[in-house]
Amino acid sequence: TEFVSANDLASLMNVSVNDVIKVCMQLGMFVSINQRLDAEAITIIADEFGYSIDFITSEDEQALEQLEEDAVEDLEERAPIVTIMGHVDHGKTSLLDYIRDANVTSGEAGGITQHIGAYKVKTESGRTVTFLDTPGHEAFTAMRARGAKVTDVVIIVVAADDSVMPQTKEAINHAQAAGVPIIIALNKIDKPAANPDKVREELAQLNILVEEWGGKYQSQEVSAKTGQGINDLLEKVLLEAELLELKANKNRNAVGTVIEAALDKGRGYVATMLVQTGTLKVGDIVLAGSHYGRVKAMTDHRGRKMKEAGPSTPVQLLGLDGAPQAGDKFLVMESEREAREIASNRSQVQREQSLRTRKHITLDEIGRRL
Ligand code: GDP
Ligand code: MG
Repeated sequence: TEFVSANDLASLMNVSVNDVIKVCMQLGMFVSINQRLDAEAITIIADEFGYSIDFITSEDEQALEQLEEDAVEDLEERAPIVTIMGHVDHGKTSLLDYIRDANVTSGEAGGITQHIGAYKVKTESGRTVTFLDTPGHEAFTAMRARGAKVTDVVIIVVAADDSVMPQTKEAINHAQAAGVPIIIALNKIDKPAANPDKVREELAQLNILVEEWGGKYQSQEVSAKTGQGINDLLEKVLLEAELLELKANKNRNAVGTVIEAALDKGRGYVATMLVQTGTLKVGDIVLAGSHYGRVKAMTDHRGRKMKEAGPSTPVQLLGLDGAPQAGDKFLVMESEREAREIASNRSQVQREQSLRTRKHITLDEIGRRL
């Protein structure tokens, strides 16, 4: 299970729950029978009863550990993953659309743009940048709340004919809380009323001092309408990314994060997945949150079929048996049976605790001391 209450712990240790609660009170912890116990509390209480605890990490955490496991020589540079945030109407969607549509190479022509929540573009300098096209920062926050760390760089958009607004501040706070570097895009610079200095001043008041004014934040005047400054903005993103030394091993089973997923009438469950390390291939067995399946087909944001997808590549994936949640981790498993079992265990846990928050550490086993 992914959740242990005082009651569960008592039955695992074969003692009465009243004894567990009594011990808790002696230790200064006041718990009710069905209250969730955290890892520390479980360890302390079990110790009082002469048990030691083995915490078996969940698949998600194993996946994260795998991320760190790669040998240095196996790591290669990967594209930065960027989220655009800012106040409503300051131009997030327009910027994303402009970047997506302007960076179509001739070989890509013909495909019809689909909204899949993420896309990858080639810049004029021939490098790649991946954009998460999530609606506002709700998705960013939701993913972060689920422990998903997908964004490498945040672009904060501020309309130069407007001001720093509540959602601008909120977006800055979110990015800072996540420890993600910020680049400022001063948008709508084509407008006669644009006054970027006023916005720089307001940002300075929030301790966001741009480089031009001696600060550490890169900023760029842009227009999502005319395209002015957008290439420079992308180059600044790449500069920021260079400092981060983003790397991944493409020669391993894929691990990544679910960006969005839904049931499509004609095609079944369609999930947008961001591969973060490794290479995802058609035919792979994928475990994503409480769902699993064999990858039937993958397409990019232009609906073109892909056989495989490497690090920092978003794909639209067909073949899962349900819709995982945004922010769920996915990984490739060797055995379909194992994937099915883990997925069904997770679904059951979710059903039982649909109202409770997810627990990070999985208690799979309590081993009796001696
Ligand atoms: P969002 O709410 O942040 O996604 O903002 P939108 O992209 O929907 O833009 C809001 C409005 O501003 C739309 O009417 C856009 O056409 C307009 N807009 C966005 N960027 C620019 C720009 O650079 N110049 C001008 N003139 N209008 C823009
Ligand atoms: Mg929008």
